[in-house]
Amino acid sequence: MLVFANCQTLDANEPIVLVPDDDWTETQVQILRNVAECWNMKYGTRLYVGRSDTTMQQVKFSFHDYTCLFGGGRTETNLPVRVSICRPSWYIPSDNAAYLNGVLATVLLHELGHVLNIRKHASERGSVMAASADEQDGQPEFSKNDDRLFFEANPDFRLTPSCQQVDVIGSSDGLECYCRD
Ligand SMILES: [Zn+2]
Repeated sequence: MLVFANCQTLDANEPIVLVPDDDWTETQVQILRNVAECWNMKYGTRLYVGRSDTTMQQVKFSFHDYTCLFGGGRTETNLPVRVSICRPSWYIPSDNAAYLNGVLATVLLHELGHVLNIRKHASERGSVMAASADEQDGQPEFSKNDDRLFFEANPDFRLTPSCQQVDVIGSSDGLECYCRD
């Protein structure tokens, strides 16, 4: 099997527009906005949620039941890069909205790493890029392992983060990131 170690589909130095489908609720869009801000704060990327704009690098986000066969989310890493998400209510028998939002946020935070060219998974438990939710001990954290994967995937990355220490905190809208500086 051929493995391309530095296979960058999108340029992480340039803005990337994240475009959720029209059926996403305000809350789901806000969750995506929040987790995009986590990456921006941590690494200095410029991910933002907006409308479709083909003059920009853009990534579409959709809910698909067939994604549930593979896991919580799946990122198509060839152009056009797109992210498919399994609705958490499909595999979690809970009507606790805050909990389901937390799961959605964790999946979206992880898939954004794949959008940012990370093709591997982190071995460190609890990392944002850990392979599956089973390896997430509750709240994900950006780990040293995540840092290494990000910079390996984007060797010419030149932006600087706005924050040295980013904390990922659970909220009723999934997850939010705060700068500890
Ligand atoms: Zn993954």
